[in-house]
Amino acid sequence: MRKKLIAGNWKMNMTPSEGIALIGTLKDLVKNDEVDVCYCVPAIDIVPAVEATKGTNVAIGAQNLYFEEKGAYTGEISASMLVDAGVKYVIMGHSERRGYFFETNEDINKKAKKALEHGLTPIMCCGESLEQRQQGLTISWIREQIKVGFEGISAEDAVKIVIAYEPIWAIGTGVTATSEQAEEVCADIRKYLAELYDAKTADTIRILYGGSMNAANAAELLAMADIDGGLIGGASLKTDFGKIVNYNK
Ligand code: PEP
Repeated sequence: MRKKLIAGNWKMNMTPSEGIALIGTLKDLVKNDEVDVCYCVPAIDIVPAVEATKGTNVAIGAQNLYFEEKGAYTGEISASMLVDAGVKYVIMGHSERRGYFFETNEDINKKAKKALEHGLTPIMCCGESLEQRQQGLTISWIREQIKVGFEGISAEDAVKIVIAYEPIWAIGTGVTATSEQAEEVCADIRKYLAELYDAKTADTIRILYGGSMNAANAAELLAMADIDGGLIGGASLKTDFGKIVNYNK
């Protein structure tokens, strides 16, 4: 039985003091032992966010890491820095990073390996553009992202990765994939993971949906057989996030 993960992606929002205030506001609203909860916060918010969530059910995630161990990479953050700061999850391959910062499938594979080496849980994002969907390319595009993203990763490590299926046309647009559209792709990702690895590995890996998930549509999306949680942008900055975490209450 896969435990659901509800992960907030604050993106480039929330100064450290605003972040602490938000964590305080959400503290009692996000209690639900049946799901894992995390906030993926901007790098500068990590240390205060870890402090502010101590003793709660909320883990802190980062939104990026660099795949080298350490050294002359000005502006980058390493896996060991994240671990030392108390981070548990790290997003990689978000479509905003792929689009604005030219992150490739190969970069994401290296980031996943580095995160795993340090005991961090990668939240590996994939997703198609509207144009690709309209051209019928969704499944082949996502399979390629998964294939390269997981290349050289053993089954033992693969089960530690969380995948987030995020159709680009649904991110921040207010347009949510229907539960059938989201399930179709998440189910295919699982089928493909079974081909790459085996059925047991595929059944263990958590696959999230992301793209305008909110308090009104979460329960329906999260009821789908292959959707094991959500990666939530806009709604993670509001009290709505508490309603998503408690979608089953
Ligand atoms: C995201 O940032 O991954 C995301 C899904 O954003 P939103 O929920 O705002 O669409």
